[in-house]
Parts: sequence; structure tokens; C-alpha cells
Amino acid sequence: MKSSKEPSVGPDANSSRDHAQHAKARIGIDLGGTKIEVICLEPSGNVSYQKRFSTPRGSYPRLLETLAEAIQLADPEPDPRLMKPIGIGTPGAVSKKTGLMKNCNTTELNHQNLAADLSQLVSRDVKIANDADCFALSEAVDGAGQDHSCVFGGILGTGVGGGIAINQALLAGPNAIAGEWGHNALPFDRLRPDYDFPWTRGRPCYCGRTDCIETWLSGDGVTKSYETLTGERLTAAEIFDNSNRTEATQKTFDQYSQLCALALSTIINVIDPDIIVLGGGLSKTPGLCQAIKSQWAHYVFSDQVATSIACARHGDASGVRGAAWLWPAEHNGA
Ligand SMILES: [Zn+2]
Repeated sequence: MKSSKEPSVGPDANSSRDHAQHAKARIGIDLGGTKIEVICLEPSGNVSYQKRFSTPRGSYPRLLETLAEAIQLADPEPDPRLMKPIGIGTPGAVSKKTGLMKNCNTTELNHQNLAADLSQLVSRDVKIANDADCFALSEAVDGAGQDHSCVFGGILGTGVGGGIAINQALLAGPNAIAGEWGHNALPFDRLRPDYDFPWTRGRPCYCGRTDCIETWLSGDGVTKSYETLTGERLTAAEIFDNSNRTEATQKTFDQYSQLCALALSTIINVIDPDIIVLGGGLSKTPGLCQAIKSQWAHYVFSDQVATSIACARHGDASGVRGAAWLWPAEHNGA
């Protein structure tokens, strides 16, 4: 999902603007490579406005204009003191070294100061965070993890990413890579010795290493695993379609849940979250959470595993909701 990430940027809590004067809602923007989704999120968690736009490609000024127009439509508030603050979630990141965007699949964003440029254009406060962090924050604030103090949000989709929220705030360490587990190596040496594993290890990853968690737990990883068994190339959604289970699809599912348990055990061993919330397309596979839970006791360094595991409550909307939640309650008088 991402190769690195940085914490949210933009005017901080001590910004000269009077946050208490902001309207009570926030604006969340999910800025993707093909679409831009904009919501107004009320303090109650209700979405009072929602609209999608196509992401204009090839021109940073055009992208800024589109964002500005989208914000104006969502909140045509003329009084600067009442304007809603903006949170943006994107697959890219903000370089801690330069303050500029990097690693964006919307490549015209790279090397730009999006938060400052947009803030100036729309006269509002803007925060930006990685989309996997937004997912974790959303599920921690009012999603599947809302009753837990330490939430690990793991994305299982085109890529494998993650974020950590503690007491409903993102954890951002000095390297701003908290929760980034997709490019750790799968500890295959710890795989249950009685588990039949006919797949060849040593899968290359685009990051230059081999057997990154992402190479096995992403959608493409599932496609490869199934292809090894059958010679047939299907999408992960087709392989994990419950109505079409065969011996090979079941074997691929068993392998997938086993490797998820193995990979997640390393998260539990290090940060011991209260709950693991899974998002992304593959997290919707029926029975996955239960299958993982049935296996992870083999891998966690503990006499019991009391960790909860659940699918995202807000599904695909978690990213845009988490972007809005980058502005916590105290900033809007809620
Ligand atoms: Zn990798």
C-alpha cells in the first residue's frame, strides 16, 4: 500500500487560527490516483455530505484547483472563522526531511508542499496523513476499535500497510513508520512444522527484498499462490469467492490465513494491541478473522492470546473518515 509514511502535517494545534471558531464538522478527503472522495463528518460521526470527483492527472495546479472546488462545494462558508478544517488521506507521504510530498502514485504530487499550497488557496487549515494511518485512526475513533486503547489497523489489499492508534491518536515515531509491516520479512522459519507448504519461498518484492509480507498477503500474492497450485491466474476476489470453493481455493485460503496469523503474531509480540482491525479488499473474505484467530496461538509468545480481531466497521469509507478525524474533537469545540 505504501513504502513509507510520515505523520500528519499542516498547521498544528497551536495554529494562529482559532479552532474553537470552526464549524463543528470536519472535511475529510480521500485523495486517490483515480478518484477524490470528499465528506463532511459531523462530531457524531454522521456523514452530512459526500461527493466523488475524478482525479485530474498531469497537472499539479489543476489538482489543487479541483481540491479547492471540491472543498468549496462541501462547505460554501464565507466566514473564515466558521470554515471547516480539512484532513487529507493519500497513499503518499510527507517527507520529514523536506516537508514535501513523496511516494505518491499520483506522481504530480511528489515534491510539492500540498498542505501549505492548499491551505493558502482555500484559507483553511489542512492536515495530511498516509491513507493506512487514516484507516487505523477511523477504526480507533468510532469503528471496530473504538472501545480499545491500542488499535493496530492492517490493510490487506493491493498492498499491505498499517497504522497504530493509541487512545484515538496516531502513533508517529521518529521515522514515522509505526505500523508499517508490509515490508518486513515473513518469518517462515517459524511456520508450524506440521503445516504442508508446497509453495516456493523467496518471492521478490518491488522494494528489492524477498518474501516481504506484502508478497504473500497482497491480492497479487494470493493470485501467485493459487497459480502455483493450478497454473490458472485468477484475482484474489475470484479465488476467495465462497460460492466457488474448490480444493485449490480452500488450500490457498488456508495458506493465506496461516501466513496472516504468522505475520500478525510479530505485531502482537511487539506492541500487543488490544485489537487488530483488518481493512482492504481481502479483509472482507468470509471466515478470515476466525481462521487467523484459530492459528495465531502457534506463533504468539504468550500462554494465551486475548487479542481481539475484527473487520473494519466502516469498510472502504474508513480512509476518508480517518482523514476527517485528523482534526480531533478539541479543535472544533465538540
Ligand atoms: Zn518489500
